[in-house]
Amino acid sequence: MKYQSTRDKNVLLSASEAIARGLSRDGGLFVPVSFPKLPAGALQEMCSMNYQQRAVYIMNMYLSDFPLAELTDYVSRAYSPKSFNTPSIAPVRKTDDGTFFLELWHGPTCAFKDMALQILPYFMTASMTKTGEERTVCILVATSGDTGKAALEGFCDVPRTKIMVFYPKDGISDVQKLQMMSQSGDNVSVCAVEGNFDDAQTGVKKIFSDPAFRDKIAERGYFLSSANSINWGRLLPQIVYYISAYCDLVAKKEIQIGDKIDFCVPTGNFGDILAGYYALRMGLPVRKLICASNSNDVLTEFIRTGIYDKNRRFYATISPSMDILVSSNLERLLFELSGRDDEAVRGYMDSLSRTGRYEVSDDMKAALRETFECGSCSDEETKAAIAGMFENNHYLIDTHTAVALRVLEDFRKTAGNKTPCVVVSTASPFKFCDSVLSALGRDTDAPGTQLIEKLEEVAGAEAPLPLKTLKTKRIRFTESVGKTDMQGVVDAFLS
Ligand SMILES: *Cc1c(COP(=O)(O)O)cnc(C)c1O
Repeated sequence: MKYQSTRDKNVLLSASEAIARGLSRDGGLFVPVSFPKLPAGALQEMCSMNYQQRAVYIMNMYLSDFPLAELTDYVSRAYSPKSFNTPSIAPVRKTDDGTFFLELWHGPTCAFKDMALQILPYFMTASMTKTGEERTVCILVATSGDTGKAALEGFCDVPRTKIMVFYPKDGISDVQKLQMMSQSGDNVSVCAVEGNFDDAQTGVKKIFSDPAFRDKIAERGYFLSSANSINWGRLLPQIVYYISAYCDLVAKKEIQIGDKIDFCVPTGNFGDILAGYYALRMGLPVRKLICASNSNDVLTEFIRTGIYDKNRRFYATISPSMDILVSSNLERLLFELSGRDDEAVRGYMDSLSRTGRYEVSDDMKAALRETFECGSCSDEETKAAIAGMFENNHYLIDTHTAVALRVLEDFRKTAGNKTPCVVVSTASPFKFCDSVLSALGRDTDAPGTQLIEKLEEVAGAEAPLPLKTLKTKRIRFTESVGKTDMQGVVDAFLS
């Protein structure tokens, strides 16, 4: 299997080259040259496999230059009982009212980013070896909360890697902040930025695009890379859980092989839902992918109108990991919807960077609507969804998952459709205690770790261990910098 750039089809790389490089030099993203089809009987076969075996089976179709034994080793280390608190890794939960939730937050940082970032470091270092890269990689991350901690945990003490995370000083939850400030490991660093997520992101991009800085650190034996969801090594592991969820529903006799189902996905950077689309293209029986947004509804509008326009007000919501106006991975979908027309993709991306807007062709609009449904909801509606689910089913969901649930409920009301739908549950409610407690009408005036205990009481359930033990962790990283001084921090880290 080879990989090509969405902006130049003539760029052809192996999987390891695509993963080591992250982003194509033409600015495009790497995509497989074709989608491998699930052979007849494959789904049936996977129904009796565990999560790890399913992961090896699916990833093996894409990673031609990774021998099976090597892949098996990475999968068993990444999705091990040491890191995930349930043997099924990504279980599907059915609530009393018959809603399915695909719980993707049983990993070490309690958000779905673990599903990819637990295995990315293995892919990354193996790809460095396979491509003859002798330097040490320094991963730079700007995070709105969940990615940073998941990347730190994944790369912690991995040989030949260093990682530095920047987070917006006032843009993330108390629990998220504590999780990062107390990160262990000799190769890690964390720094707050005096600004919002966009400032942190812009600062990181500036560091990446400074050739003098690149040369300077190359002399010390380092090169920079990213753990952002534009890396193919992050997208691939996410395909697995869509297929795995389907197999679980078959195994539990909720559906029969071949029945079509829907997925409803809380969406920000369009990575998670894109992996669902790739699963569909491989032959998974999926009818619709429902894209759920919060008040930053740029994607909802795109799916409805075919116009992407980031020139709009930015809202800071209670589902902060979805507060995004430029969804990078959408470029990969445009590539597919246009019939793999790299010239068209270049045109749209050029228009986006010049005017902040583009409109796709009529054919692409039709193709988009064939597979995607969409909806958005406000913070108030998000809170109502949390409260309703808890009161009626005694099941607690986080703010991001609640956006998806609310959008699904609206969709069912208007479309009257009864196709089984899986809500993709992306974070533990204990990561966002503040908003969840307030949704349940409770007082939230206390520090983050106390709110964890309070939510445990209210929910009558224990918080995941990595969050419960936060209050005993030593704080290691308290530095904060102005948004123009980020490069100096990286420079010092690599000295
Ligand atoms: C990152 C994140 C999302 C959005 O996922 P994308 O792949 O960016 O669309 C949703 N929920 C949570 C909890 C997240 O951390």
